[in-house]
Amino acid sequence: ESVINKIAAGEIIIQPANALKEMLENSIDAKSTMIEILVKDGGMKLLQITDNGHGINKVDLGLLCERFATSKISKFEDLENIATYGFRGEALASISHISRLSVVTKTSESPLAYKAYYVNGKMCNANFKESGDSSIEPKPIAGKDGTQIVVEDLFYNIPSRLKALKSKSDEFGKILDVIGRYAIHTGHVGFSCKKYGESLQVLSTRPGVPIRERIRTVYGTSIASELLDIELDGSLAYNKDKHNGNENENENESICHTLGLIKVSGVITNANYNNKKRVQPIFFINHRLVSCDPLKRAINSVYQFFLPKGNYPFMYLSLEIDPKNLDVNIHPTKREVRFLNEDEIIELIVDKVHSILSSVDT
Ligand code: ADP
Ligand code: MG
Repeated sequence: ESVINKIAAGEIIIQPANALKEMLENSIDAKSTMIEILVKDGGMKLLQITDNGHGINKVDLGLLCERFATSKISKFEDLENIATYGFRGEALASISHISRLSVVTKTSESPLAYKAYYVNGKMCNANFKESGDSSIEPKPIAGKDGTQIVVEDLFYNIPSRLKALKSKSDEFGKILDVIGRYAIHTGHVGFSCKKYGESLQVLSTRPGVPIRERIRTVYGTSIASELLDIELDGSLAYNKDKHNGNENENENESICHTLGLIKVSGVITNANYNNKKRVQPIFFINHRLVSCDPLKRAINSVYQFFLPKGNYPFMYLSLEIDPKNLDVNIHPTKREVRFLNEDEIIELIVDKVHSILSSVDT
């Protein structure tokens, strides 16, 4: 069973940045306003995330790293209305199968913080040896409100995974990229990132600063000064043809009723911005970092009408759509997202981008 769990975990978490993304989302879900990240050796040696969120109750620590242990769904219908990032309770479980994981956490109701260690999904002693001893208890210690998760020796038990990783600095680059994207999208939270043993922060944003300032912090002044706002409140018309393969009348109807509204907000670079470097677009859908190649390709092709050859746009878009229109079967850790009425959604956005770029004097 442990081998299967290990393999499964290795498919969900394939590089340190994947583990970090899961933990960032958990900290954001926990209503944190400050998240500090410490990284050693590209995250392979150490990934430490410290937040000031609501913490975890002592009684919940025993099962924290069990698969499907989640505090985020209480009933099945909730699956259709997932407001929080995570909903499957698999991330910490997976990470605990392929690393040495420890947690220090304190809720505001508790006078003390508690520390617990995990290996292979189970709470264990401080030596990270599986003991089968069910009497292990979290240790009371002094601490601040919030949660600190420490992941050490990621992939120590999957040598092939470790070998497949890029250099420490490449892996660190991917970690920074993920933090930067969350820092841009999640403006009510401050993020900071340091390398272990160095006092200088590699990235640092304060909570509550405007979008352009966040982009300046992460991507530099040149991009930040060339941005146009994009705001869109649209509604999706139901296209019968797309769904007529569906035999079930009721289901058909429910799709029809739920298509409803789409909200898009973000910033895109103007057509005067000379940028020779490809920057991956930043897309969030319902506050989850995703990639969506069809959307990216469509917007890039609009820019081809405006940008001189060899220049690339930058875009950050936050889409909010009814969760019923998202394919929940896509694994939460998979970045590529699918939604119903994709063509229509893309068309709405592309039209908007086109009209924004056209309306600006060049
Ligand atoms: P999910 O996020 O899908 O519920 P995870 O494995 O990512 O599953 O996390 C399991 C549970 O651990 C969460 O549901 C949450 O209750 C708790 N948790 C994890 N990280 C934090 C954190 N930083 N602050 C508070 N609770 C947390
Ligand atoms: Mg999670």
